[in-house]
Amino acid sequence: MIEVKNLVKKYGNHTAVDHLNFTIEEGHVYGFLGPNGAGKSTTMNIMTGYLGATEGEVLINGHDILKEPEEAKKQIGYLPELPPLYMEMTVREYLEFVAELKGIAKNKREESINEVEKMVKIWEVENRLIRNLSKGYRQRVGLAQAVLGFPEIIILDEPSVGLDPKQIIEIRELIRQLAKKHTVILSSHILAEVREVCDYILIISKGKLVASDTPENLERNLGDSDLIEIETKASPDEVRRILETVDGIRSISTKQLENGITWTQIQEKKNTDIREKVFQAFAQNHQPLLKLNPLQVSLEDVFMELTQSDRAAEEYAEKAKKKETEDMKDAGDL
Ligand code: ADP
Ligand code: MG
Repeated sequence: MIEVKNLVKKYGNHTAVDHLNFTIEEGHVYGFLGPNGAGKSTTMNIMTGYLGATEGEVLINGHDILKEPEEAKKQIGYLPELPPLYMEMTVREYLEFVAELKGIAKNKREESINEVEKMVKIWEVENRLIRNLSKGYRQRVGLAQAVLGFPEIIILDEPSVGLDPKQIIEIRELIRQLAKKHTVILSSHILAEVREVCDYILIISKGKLVASDTPENLERNLGDSDLIEIETKASPDEVRRILETVDGIRSISTKQLENGITWTQIQEKKNTDIREKVFQAFAQNHQPLLKLNPLQVSLEDVFMELTQSDRAAEEYAEKAKKKETEDMKDAGDL
């Protein structure tokens, strides 16, 4: 449905989008997840034809967004980071204006606008000036202009930014409702939000796609680089010294707790279980372990690790590729 191929966007010598490749299939809710500055808005602006790319291409149902913008844009509704609202228009005037821009047939406009106004619950403010609306209502008007005409694909850039918790719940509910009939792509820097409404997550960091999968698979694929936490009365330096004698550790981080206890998180190398060795190393040094506990890797950990460490991102990509090859072997395709 949407193919993004080798997309690059440079601002001067700063690369905001760095060779992105992905495909959006019909009928899912996709989440672009990444910290601020990751390149989410830039990517969405290019996908919707608001911004030219430095390299690469975007195809919307086979139509190049730059070469055939009319055809491609017809299939997309877009809520940009700053919705293009006209403050001196009433909600109704504005939506009539948008309906005209979108080329909705004259005899369908009224019905179309009524439907959208009811859907995003702005019916009762339709005669108010946009200037006088609260942030929450303005965001809904922004959403209304994206949804108007019910295009196949709806792209929403940080739809809940700046809203209060009640409004956030309402927007999420709306997105779920839209997802029944449309392909939805939304961006967010908040993991919880993406997890809640998306069935496919694309994690973007520094302009690169560092992982793309279902939330469940993201957790599972990183799940085999296990984490262990331990607690002991040994000092952090002592803990590090003792752990140096144990093979199979990738990294450790320590924290001194208030009660004279040192908490340490150990990341094991893949496919090693170092728990017995850790236990024995501390016993030999007469530093009893107060706690030794394997940690479940959560989506939070995946996100933090992939967006903070280039190495983790590379490893994830390798692992995903390997898994894909194995899956294909299993399916008899190779
Ligand atoms: P996100 O939406 O993920 O927060 P953006 O796409 O807005 O990220 O920005 C990606 C990077 O590109 C950032 O480093 C940002 O500072 C830079 N950037 C965005 N727009 C411009 C612009 N018009 N001129 C120069 N740099 C820009
Ligand atoms: Mg943004």
